[in-house]
Amino acid sequence: MLGQFFSPKSVAVVGAAREPGKVGYGVLQNIIDSGFKGRIYPINPKADAVLGLQCYSSIKAVRGKVDLAVLAIPRAAVLSTVAECGRKGVQGIIVLTAGFREVGPEGAALEKEVLSVARQYGIRLLGPNSLGLIDTHTPVNASFAAGMPVRGEISFMSQSGALCTAILDWALKEDLGFAKFISLGNKADVDEINLLDAWAEDPHTRVIISYLEGIGEGRKFMQAARAVTKKKPVVMVKSGVTAAGSRAVSSHTGSLAGSESAYNAAFKQSGVIRARSVEDLFNLSVAFSFQPLPRDSRLAIVTNAGGPGIIATDEAERQGLRLATFARSTIDKLRASLTSTANVYNPIDVIGDARSDRYRVAVDAALADPGVDALVVILTPQAMTEIEATANLVVELSRQYGKTVLASFMGGVRVEPGVRILREGSVPNYEFPEEAVASLGAMYEQRRWIEKPVEQPMSFPVRKEQARRLLVSAAADKRQTLGDVEARGVLTAYGFKVPTAMLARSAEQAIGFAKQIGYPVVLKVVSPEILHKSDVGGVVVGLQNDEEVGDAYETILARVRRFMPKAVVWGVEVQEMVTSGKETIIGLVKDPQFGHMLMFGLGGIYVEVLKDVSFRITPLTLSDAREMISQIRSYPLLAGVRGEKPVDIDAIVDALLRLSQLAEDFPQISELDINPLRVRERGQGAVAVDCRLAFAPDGLVEQVGASGRSPLQEQVAAS
Ligand code: ADP
Ligand code: MG
Repeated sequence: MLGQFFSPKSVAVVGAAREPGKVGYGVLQNIIDSGFKGRIYPINPKADAVLGLQCYSSIKAVRGKVDLAVLAIPRAAVLSTVAECGRKGVQGIIVLTAGFREVGPEGAALEKEVLSVARQYGIRLLGPNSLGLIDTHTPVNASFAAGMPVRGEISFMSQSGALCTAILDWALKEDLGFAKFISLGNKADVDEINLLDAWAEDPHTRVIISYLEGIGEGRKFMQAARAVTKKKPVVMVKSGVTAAGSRAVSSHTGSLAGSESAYNAAFKQSGVIRARSVEDLFNLSVAFSFQPLPRDSRLAIVTNAGGPGIIATDEAERQGLRLATFARSTIDKLRASLTSTANVYNPIDVIGDARSDRYRVAVDAALADPGVDALVVILTPQAMTEIEATANLVVELSRQYGKTVLASFMGGVRVEPGVRILREGSVPNYEFPEEAVASLGAMYEQRRWIEKPVEQPMSFPVRKEQARRLLVSAAADKRQTLGDVEARGVLTAYGFKVPTAMLARSAEQAIGFAKQIGYPVVLKVVSPEILHKSDVGGVVVGLQNDEEVGDAYETILARVRRFMPKAVVWGVEVQEMVTSGKETIIGLVKDPQFGHMLMFGLGGIYVEVLKDVSFRITPLTLSDAREMISQIRSYPLLAGVRGEKPVDIDAIVDALLRLSQLAEDFPQISELDINPLRVRERGQGAVAVDCRLAFAPDGLVEQVGASGRSPLQEQVAAS
């Protein structure tokens, strides 16, 4: 796939220049220097030859077939050249020229035109504003970057040309092998999704790394990523903020959900490993391309200094790795061969005066232990340390055992010869032990992802029609929100438990209902215009008797008249007081890139301050739901601390999955908050105490007649 770019048989450079320093010169030179074996056609009407190759006056003038055309020409000539390429039968075009979407609306319009001409001829287009691409296996270097990496198994895509050159330079310095290198530029046509699809099948690509500033089609991206991440690791740095944060929100979920949360969720759910920084990206590239994945999470550490060993141990815990417990025989072996002051338990401390022989014993014993999946070897350069000999034995033993081995030879000048040996022996070395352990953490994450069974989203029998009617009648009422009472109707249709409630139109009626429901009760104002009821003093909880109910009824109405004199009030609801359980919040929000996203967190008034919430893109699988609950920091409060009984986690899982189904059924829903969802003790379920919902009436309004009335209005009219 995309063979016209990565393995063309003939390449034309339109705008091949005779002057060194020009893009049209650099790219031609790179193609020649890369050892490209196909035909090369420089195009320049003013020259007979460039860099020793015969020049053509135009693409048209070339007699043979042209697979790929690289455009290094002024912006004004791009459109007509693309058309000319189309007539010539060119299949791929790289537009190096800048000055398109990135400079403003006029550039964007031109970019669109260029794309539409390309599409017309069935041409795939890379860029504009691209640095070009490199394939080390073909080989071809159709870029104007300086230098070409050695052949390897990493493929890199980047939305930033500058980062391309930086990574390339680093690859040259580290002698790190790459398979493909591509600068996406403005992504008018070829984008990250196309490349994931192509590289999933590419036998030369074993590790995919990328730098992206934005992802166009979130759902398609997730699908493409899922298809590749089970086979090869995909590591991404995602930078840049989108405008998503500035959209108007009316829910807690909306205000807590930024595009960052969406990207994190999307990456997690499609097995993409997110690098936190470019440095992290480097670290992980080396780890994934040099070493096999660990079979499991049991880590051994060998060190000649205590401190770095502790740092590594701490990081292991953060990464969800376990420190291996050695077999008896391993400990005996270590005790017999190491000095008496050495620590023979994990982390093995061979002590500062260790020469390579002690390292050999320790590394060998650790790798031989069946309870060890991975090893980190730490070395600090002390007076007796045999740096090169130690590096050599680490390489030798890592090959012999085939387990994951990473190193941290700390320091600079003195360890450099050792670092070189490690690199040549495919043992990644990190300046600091925590980086080595963090890289191992990502490798273990990949292992878990590969082994995680593929799940289908769950489906419950629900009363979809009932929910639809509620939305339709609100839409007919020219509303785009459902308050507590109506939203609860939607929830019950989807199998949620809600408190018993009755709508009162007078204090006497409220007292009557309170008696029926049983004390204590809660009174709440019901108005289509009041979505945040407490804000106007519209909620009174813990009412114990008739008198309190009567008073609360009048108080609520008085407050509402004062704070929102124009609001239409449908009545005051008398609600069963749900006293047991912990308050959680679950919600739904629509992300512009990824669509519906669910949120979970501990509820109450501190949600927005603590931001202790988790997100997943819908549809949710069972394990997505479980993970998003256990992921929050305050999870121990739900699992039970200090003798408290655990809450009904399964009821939260159930609620999340049902909400996910609601989101899939009604793409119109833009935001939904259940706050609080009161979760009782294990086995006792959860109650959706309060809910509000916002939706876009797309496709709903046509379905009602002019007299569409919400069930609530019917109830109000009838009373
Ligand atoms: P709003 O969010 O519109 O202000 P709520 O219905 O959520 O109104 O009520 C505010 C708070 O009152 C809730 O977060 C909850 O702590 C408490 N509360 C409301 N209804 C009940 C109920 N039926 N049982 C127990 N607590 C309740
Ligand atoms: Mg509430």
